[in-house]
Amino acid sequence: VTKIGVLTSGGDAPGMNAAIRAVVRTGLYHNMEVFGIMRGYQGMIDDDIVPMHSRSVANIIQRGGTILKTARSKDFFEPEGRKRAYENLKKHGIDGLVIIGGDGSFRGAQKFSNEFDIPCIGLPGTIDKDIAGSDFTIGFDTAVNTAIEAIDKIRDTADAHDRLFIIEVMGRDAGYIALHSGIATGAEHILIPETKTDLELVVDSLEEKERRKKLVNMIVVAEGDETGGGNEVAAIIKKRLPHLDTRVCILGHIQRGGSPTCLDRLIASRLGYAAVDSLIEGKHNTMIGIMNNKLHYTPLDKAVKAKQRISDEWMKIVKILAS
Ligand code: ADP
Repeated sequence: VTKIGVLTSGGDAPGMNAAIRAVVRTGLYHNMEVFGIMRGYQGMIDDDIVPMHSRSVANIIQRGGTILKTARSKDFFEPEGRKRAYENLKKHGIDGLVIIGGDGSFRGAQKFSNEFDIPCIGLPGTIDKDIAGSDFTIGFDTAVNTAIEAIDKIRDTADAHDRLFIIEVMGRDAGYIALHSGIATGAEHILIPETKTDLELVVDSLEEKERRKKLVNMIVVAEGDETGGGNEVAAIIKKRLPHLDTRVCILGHIQRGGSPTCLDRLIASRLGYAAVDSLIEGKHNTMIGIMNNKLHYTPLDKAVKAKQRISDEWMKIVKILAS
């Protein structure tokens, strides 16, 4: 492998820039030529491919978003689109790819590398932390810290007015942002897709706490919870406990942006460096993650969205600490 391409694809996540920087500089260190592919797979199809130099990635380690931009590419689902992408890579002489994205992007990479002889290395970049084969994903730590900062602020006003806030955080299939931010902010209840949500039990517990004169300020709910999310939870609580001043706050896209945390920058740097090493070693169609603080290699077709079991211990801790 002498010429490599790097791209970011699917949902953006803070820390992607740090990963791009690591891929580019490690590649250059090994005397490779490195190309940046714009807007994910669409840039491969449109030949939006630019040579990267050490200075191309200066001053980006601290920036959210992705300088290569990201996109969802309909054309890449089609064989003709992937063929065009391959011809463009060949034109530039690119013989290895690093894909920073989520499980959808890995499915695309898997298909592409089955059809054409281009080794692909995937790095998990998603705020949801929902990929099998990695304890961390690039962007999760930043997203959860952004959520904490916002929830702390909501708590101040909730407390001042004795209000109950239902706070919806991101996580369509995985409840990790809700679980971690909820524990870290002392939420009363945390409602996530991985566990059954019984709103009657939530209502009972709120009533019981009211009898004890415990002030309840916050319930954190993942957007993908079976209840349907913040608005749906609030509607039921308002109906069952009309005397409470219940409000909803949907944190939304602020969770995707912002300067990456130290942890995300470290993970991104380590994984970006490892991606180039792996291409040199001849690995292909592999996602690199981190498990138990060690690099962990998963075949791309196994790097799927994983509904991980949330340990009963965490759920018990949530309950005890909010009592
Ligand atoms: P994420 O990587 O964040 O999960 P998506 O699921 O939107 O994001 O996938 C990103 C892109 O990967 C898609 O827009 C498409 O171009 C490509 N892709 C996803 N699944 C496939 C597939 N089965 N075949 C070909 N390309 C795919």
